[in-house]
Amino acid sequence: MNEEQRQYYLKTMGIPVWLTCQQDEYEDVSTEVENIATEDKLLSWESLQKEVANCKQCLLHQSRTQTVFGVGCQTADLLIVGEAPGFHEDQQGEPFVGRAGQLLNDMLLSIGLSRQKVYIANVLKCRPPNNRDPSPEEVATCTPFLEKQISLLKPKLILAVGRVAAHYLLKSNAPMRELRGQIFHFGEQTTPLVVTYHPAYLLRSPREKRKAFEDLLKIQGMLAS
Ligand code: URA
Repeated sequence: MNEEQRQYYLKTMGIPVWLTCQQDEYEDVSTEVENIATEDKLLSWESLQKEVANCKQCLLHQSRTQTVFGVGCQTADLLIVGEAPGFHEDQQGEPFVGRAGQLLNDMLLSIGLSRQKVYIANVLKCRPPNNRDPSPEEVATCTPFLEKQISLLKPKLILAVGRVAAHYLLKSNAPMRELRGQIFHFGEQTTPLVVTYHPAYLLRSPREKRKAFEDLLKIQGMLAS
């Protein structure tokens, strides 16, 4: 069992694992130093997180247990964008911690990545009641937070998981079958963006996992280049 798998199993058993996001054994000190976010940046993340925690701009604040800001490495190359918190995420305050989250972890492990090495955020920071689709108004109100997260993170690559994230980031209504398998670009930084199936969809349609794995191999290649 490698270190990433060990950490994953400890976490799924509910045993807390405290990690920094830069922990490649062979990384030299200069790389580590380069990757440490500046104090200003840390403050910006902190104040953004507080802003999200106090947000009451839409009615979802009335039904949430807590906001779900995002998780992972603030200097990550890869940003994963999902839809919105579900029941478990709303309870725990962390994105992708339910069954779909476990599958997402496995998908990441299949290309040698762990949650600690990527950043994970959602289009919405609050759970829509009964996990209904986010309304266009909720998306419009909430996404400035995601946009700020993207500007702070400056990822090398964005992976949109599922229709809601893909439609928002690409300003498109195209079906998933048309969005998968392409490389798009997001925002002023023209950050490369790839679309894949949402892990919750893959739990319902496991035969599509093969296609999702092709998408993952594509992003593995892009991150390595
Ligand atoms: N589905 C999402 O899109 N995001 C989560 O955080 C959990 C489930």
